[in-house]
Amino acid sequence: MASPTDGLGRPLGVLRLSLTARCNLACPYCLPDGQEPPGLLTLQQRRVVVQAAVALGAQSLRLTGGEPLLHPELESLIEAVQPLRAQGLREIALTSNGTLLSASRARALREAGLDRITLSLDGADGTSVARMAGLSDARTGARTLEAVLAAIGHARDAGFDPAAGALKLNAVIQRGRNDDQLLPLAELCRGQDLELRLIEYMDVGNRNDWSPTDVMSASEMAERIGTRWPLEALERDLHSTARRWRYRDGAGGIAVVASVSQPFCGDCNRLRITADGVAYTCLFAAPSSGLDLKPWLQPSSDPMGVEQALTQLWRSRHDRY
Ligand code: SAM
Repeated sequence: MASPTDGLGRPLGVLRLSLTARCNLACPYCLPDGQEPPGLLTLQQRRVVVQAAVALGAQSLRLTGGEPLLHPELESLIEAVQPLRAQGLREIALTSNGTLLSASRARALREAGLDRITLSLDGADGTSVARMAGLSDARTGARTLEAVLAAIGHARDAGFDPAAGALKLNAVIQRGRNDDQLLPLAELCRGQDLELRLIEYMDVGNRNDWSPTDVMSASEMAERIGTRWPLEALERDLHSTARRWRYRDGAGGIAVVASVSQPFCGDCNRLRITADGVAYTCLFAAPSSGLDLKPWLQPSSDPMGVEQALTQLWRSRHDRY
């Protein structure tokens, strides 16, 4: 069967699968749940969901959370979906705050078949990290920063090569809260050959008190960094969420996820599934608009039913932020 396209002709390309709603940080701009919702999917049920998404055309699986490293079966899930490479799955990536990424965990993830890791870090000193991650004081922030810096090393040692795009750093920038970290974060990444992916502060959910005045646009971020280290704009790849620049001195580059100032809905190819199996076709969708897949997964899985439900959901998709 040909892969379906949505109501605006967009194919499905990326499945963002959340493994847990919990996080070990409490970033005020994100505010994840402290507890898991009822009806969390099992490993076997997640595999069914990934299989259905791959059958619909998804080539990329992004594992996220909450904090996905809190999930004890993360590596087992990565192993369990490897056979889907023969059916079109090309890439398995992880987004993590990195605080739990030990050397052995990084190796285990690599051995399980993970292709890429993006670590999230919103500051380059203890005070900024504490402020952005909802930690009590600068000392705790400094310890968290140390853990993330160590995680970068562990990931690199395990074979996640930044030069091949297999290791990147995400940073959310909020005007007036951590925009003073733009240059320190750029410097940190330049020194480590890491691509810095700056994210415009988004209004996701209604718990983060979002205001447009807190958003710093992609262009302004690039301009600030470019004043210190001159940059050259690159073309945006089709379906990519990021605009890219490269340093003129050859020290790598930056990317900016401009979802607020330049939404990329026109070619958005993402499907999101929560830890408890609710599917959303837009990051900004109202919580009540998701499709709960549990009726086809619990108590027993109906793989065909999941595939049909997702096909119907994708065909009826008209989201434009
Ligand atoms: N805990 C993991 C992590 O820190 O990467 C995975 C989940 S986290 C929700 C994924 C990414 O979303 C992180 O880079 C985080 O900074 C970003 N994020 C969360 N809330 C955001 C917001 N309101 N605006 C922009 N980015 C946000």
